Amino acid sequence: MTTVNLLDFDLEGLAAFCERLGEKRFRATQLFRWIHQRGESDFTRMTDLAKSLREKLATAAHVQALPVLTQHESADGTIKWLFDVGDGNAVEAVFIPEDDRGTLCVSSQAGCAVGCRFCSTGHQGFSRNLGTGEIVAQLWFAEHFLRKHLKRDERVISNVVMMGMGEPLQNYSALVPALRTMLDDNAYGLSRRRVTVSTSGVVPMMDRLGADCPVALAVSLHAPNDALRDDLVPLNRKYPIAELLDACNRYLAHAPRDFITFEYCMLDGVNDTPEHARQLVELVKKHAGQGVSCKFNLIPFNPFPASGLLRSPQPRVLAFAKVLSEAGVVTTVRKTRGDDIDAACGQLAGDVKDRTRAAERMAQRRAAASDSTLRPVVIHPARKTAAHSHSQER
Ligand code: SF4
Repeated sequence: MTTVNLLDFDLEGLAAFCERLGEKRFRATQLFRWIHQRGESDFTRMTDLAKSLREKLATAAHVQALPVLTQHESADGTIKWLFDVGDGNAVEAVFIPEDDRGTLCVSSQAGCAVGCRFCSTGHQGFSRNLGTGEIVAQLWFAEHFLRKHLKRDERVISNVVMMGMGEPLQNYSALVPALRTMLDDNAYGLSRRRVTVSTSGVVPMMDRLGADCPVALAVSLHAPNDALRDDLVPLNRKYPIAELLDACNRYLAHAPRDFITFEYCMLDGVNDTPEHARQLVELVKKHAGQGVSCKFNLIPFNPFPASGLLRSPQPRVLAFAKVLSEAGVVTTVRKTRGDDIDAACGQLAGDVKDRTRAAERMAQRRAAASDSTLRPVVIHPARKTAAHSHSQER
């Protein structure tokens, strides 16, 4: 008999599942808390559930984590996990500790079909969408692993950014229940503003997300005009900048006190001149006569050979930021984290991009880790950094 993975359900889905088992809704809430708040996967240990329910669950359900292939910790405390999602595919999640928060960067797809020029995941190509359970499993594993190793009873991960591998809005039906689980007080209880979906600009799905689950939104802009953005973010040919900014304003109508974070990867000699910055100011201040409520996050590019692109020199990044700031546009420059473990911006696919050898490498890793215990890591105390994210954005 096939059993269902309970990580695939948000609370509504779990309540419907419990109803099918002849159980009341409050049982679903209890079960949801056991799984997500306490990290429990063994039904026999869920002691306040009726024995009859535990027996039904044992035959109809399971709680399935993703196998961990590797775990690396950076000198700056960043931790990167590579998870096996089957058929030679792997995805990564990255934990970034800071003084006032712990951020987990989560993947939504194995590979990505958008193909942005500056992104190593984009160069890898698309394999498949992750299921809701596979998205949630990254948070479930990381949160409970970190609590154990930090010896903390309370929550460790305070923020989630959907900026790992993949374009989340091209996997919408799996994404939304995963977001609802992150926000649910009976699970992770993250506030709406502490969960960020980053998109390259899938306009119709931005509208749906605004209506269904208006979490914080980051948009990968990377260029101030369509000619350049067509080249850097191929999706722009379908949804050009004016349509994208209209969609941003419609999104903000669902969350009026919010702003859009525009991600802008700084590419040497490509999109990083003061003139580009001035064009951006014009765009976001004057679009459709009202502008867009936003901030900019300038991202140092992490070069990889296939891109043929280079990182902008720091003085140019600062000069660019100055043009934006002086025009009244809030601008931050992202500090790179996890460089030494390839967890920095746009490097998330580094370990899995050679898919012709991925299955072989995974088999070797499984053999090496055949006792299936994780190597313990030393969790460094959080270090102070100026910016919180990591991934070259998606
Ligand atoms: S930047 Fe994001 S949307 Fe673009 S290829 Fe990379 S993962 Fe896909």
